[in-house]
Amino acid sequence: MSKVHNFSAGPGILPAEVLQKAAEACINFDNLNLSLLEISHRSKNYEKVMDEARALVKELFGVGDAYEVIYLGGGASLQFAMVPFNLLRETGYAAYVNTGVWAGKAIKEAKLIGDTKVIASSEDKKFSYIPKGYEIPKDADYLHITSNNTIYGTQLKEFPKSPIPLVCDMSSDIFSRPVNANNFDLIYAGAQKNMGPAGSTMVMVKKDVLGKTGRKLLSMMDYQVHIKSGSMYNTPPVFPIYVTLLTLQWLKKNGGIPWITKMNNQKSDAIYHEIDRNSMFRGTAAQEDRSQMNVCFLMNKPELEPEFDKFWKDAGISGIRGHRDVGGYRASLYNALPLESVKVLVDVMAAFEKKFA
Ligand SMILES: *Cc1c(COP(=O)(O)O)cnc(C)c1O
Repeated sequence: MSKVHNFSAGPGILPAEVLQKAAEACINFDNLNLSLLEISHRSKNYEKVMDEARALVKELFGVGDAYEVIYLGGGASLQFAMVPFNLLRETGYAAYVNTGVWAGKAIKEAKLIGDTKVIASSEDKKFSYIPKGYEIPKDADYLHITSNNTIYGTQLKEFPKSPIPLVCDMSSDIFSRPVNANNFDLIYAGAQKNMGPAGSTMVMVKKDVLGKTGRKLLSMMDYQVHIKSGSMYNTPPVFPIYVTLLTLQWLKKNGGIPWITKMNNQKSDAIYHEIDRNSMFRGTAAQEDRSQMNVCFLMNKPELEPEFDKFWKDAGISGIRGHRDVGGYRASLYNALPLESVKVLVDVMAAFEKKFA
């Protein structure tokens, strides 16, 4: 089988060794001669998985006992509802920054739960930039931001200094660069972009922001219930959490955030350099807000797209078609994507220019 260069936007690429270990655990987990899929989540062997998967998040983020980590089902999309349900007081209001489709969906859910104000938005320019310099209202219950906009290819390079609890959807760039996590009160991420497979969602929350809304919470929607039960209030998504653990172990073993930051800088520098150099293509996001994870670009002569598609498919590249709302191309450079794959794409773009410019 020839190598496939997987630029999929999500679910995204996982390290080969993680897939190998995950496959083995499906047959024989921990030398039990049982599959991970057929043992109790309350067995000692699985409790170790859950404990380590929770602890590694805190270690990689560098936070202490003030924070708790839980894993839930329902994707990042369920967090769009759980965040306001747990943090928005019945008499208060929430502040949101609208930077794209996912932020928009978070706002939609918050509005169903309580008073919600959009304090900044980049909708006026098709979400091609990150709003800056907006005032954060001191009387709002929390501020919600999205660190990386997977569909539009923009990314926050600096996080706002927030006088109110700061909540962040980090689904598509978690553990891709240094972040001072102690400045956040709640961080959530669907695992399937950058920290594991679909099916598990990580929530890290500062305990002291919880329990203040005055509303009655459904048990499954209550962070405190999940925290109290060690993320085992109900049967957790055992296999996705295990594969997430393997992915975090892979990251730590290779050098953690400093190592991946260097790798991700090299990858995004290489492709943006080519986009800016190559006369056939142009980037869609504002220069200073360009995402290191999702690189969106357009063909200057769209009629040549079928020709370019042949080029990259022949090179073994997969998953660079743009999101249906944006068109063009999107190369997702998640943590597990090797620099080698980016070089293949850059070479294809250069060869394409040579032939058609
Ligand atoms: C993919 C994505 C989501 C949605 O995640 P689901 O797990 O499918 O609900 C939310 N936010 C961001 C930033 C995403 O990239």
